[in-house]
Amino acid sequence: MKYDDQNIFAKILRGEIPCKKIYEDKFVLSFHDVNPQKKIHVLVIPKGKYIHLDDFSENASSDEIVGLIKGINIVAKKLGISIDNGEGYRALANVGENGGQEVPHLHFHLFGGEKIGKMVS
Ligand code: AMP
Repeated sequence: MKYDDQNIFAKILRGEIPCKKIYEDKFVLSFHDVNPQKKIHVLVIPKGKYIHLDDFSENASSDEIVGLIKGINIVAKKLGISIDNGEGYRALANVGENGGQEVPHLHFHLFGGEKIGKMVS
């Protein structure tokens, strides 16, 4: 499967569609999910063109992989939901059709600000 340059997160990364930005650096962009499922629901995406976690794991550079993982921690701290903040959150990546992935650009959902509950419903 080829990366689709017209997916919504590619458009957000190019600045063609607005987002409620939380954080940005060389490797990641983070913004609020447009349809929040919990009190806090944000997305962290790599800037590189990766379809899903498998694509990222196989093809991203070590710097990009570290950058994404560190980015998640930075965003959690910024939102006050990290372990350092005495809270905690769920980081979740849907992968492919069976995983329920709708947007074909890798993204981690961060859910927090309240008890997140059952892992899978
Ligand atoms: P997934 O099912 O893991 O692919 O999740 C896609 C997520 O992207 C959903 O939670 C959507 O609400 C969210 N989403 C779709 N379009 C936008 C957008 N323009 N800005 C922010 N979040 C979006």
